[in-house]
Amino acid sequence: MKIAIMGAMPEEVAPILEKVGEYKVTEYASNKYYEATYNGVELVIAYSKIGKVFSTLTATTMIEKFGCEKLLFSGVAGAVSADLKVGDLIIASSLAQHDLDITAFGHPYGYVPEGKQFIETDKSLREVAKSVASEMGVTVKEGVIVTGDQFVCDLDRKNWIESTFKADALEMEGASVACVCDSLDVPFFILRSISDAADMDASFSFDEFMISSAKTSAEFVMKMVNKLG
Ligand code: SAH
Repeated sequence: MKIAIMGAMPEEVAPILEKVGEYKVTEYASNKYYEATYNGVELVIAYSKIGKVFSTLTATTMIEKFGCEKLLFSGVAGAVSADLKVGDLIIASSLAQHDLDITAFGHPYGYVPEGKQFIETDKSLREVAKSVASEMGVTVKEGVIVTGDQFVCDLDRKNWIESTFKADALEMEGASVACVCDSLDVPFFILRSISDAADMDASFSFDEFMISSAKTSAEFVMKMVNKLG
C-alpha cells in the first residue's frame, strides 16, 4: 500500500519529512516528490504550491506516476464555523469549489454538468481519523470544507460561503484534490488545522499561526499512517 501525503506549502510537509527521516527526492513537473518508508508504510510526500491548479497537478502525479493508492492531505484553513478556533482540527466530510460559478445557466454554485457540487471523502479514512482523535483525547470536527483560488479575508465573502455551502472551513486546494481522487477512484482524506478566521485579520492570524497549525495537522496525519500499515 503506497500512500500519498500532500500539503500545499513547504511548512505543511516539513513536519512530515522530519518524522520520516530519510527519503528519496524525485523532481517532476517543476516539483519535488519525496519517497520514504515510515513504520513499514510506503509514502510519497509533496507540497503542491498554493491553489487548485497546482494541487490538481500534484495529486494526479502522485496517483498516476508514483502509484499512490490512498491520499491524505494535511494543511491549514480559514474557519467559517464559529465553533472553530485557531489550532482546531477539521476533517472534511465533503468538499466543494466556492468560486466555480456557472449560475447564469441555472446551475448551483460549485457545479458544472457531469461534475458534482459536493465530493465526499472516504468514510473508512474518516473512521481511522476518529479513532486517532479518541486515542489522543482531542476533539476533531467533521464538516464541509470549500475551496477557491482566493485567500478569503472578508466577512461578506465568508458569510456568503457559509450560507451558500453550509461550509465549516475554507481553503485553496481540497476540492481540486477531491475531484482528482474521486475521478481516479482513489480513497482520500482532507485534514486542516485552523490558521485564521477568514476575516479582515486573516492575513495577520495566518502569518502568526500557520506554522503551529500546520504542525498540528501533520502530526495527526502521521498518527493515521501508523494505523494504515
Ligand atoms: N502566506 C502565503 C500565502 C498563503 S495562501 C504567501 O505569502 O505565500 C493561504 C494558504 O493557506 C492556502 O494554501 C490555503 O489552502 C490555506 N488557507 C488558510 N487560510 C485561508 C483563508 N482564509 N482563505 C483561503 N485559504 C486559506
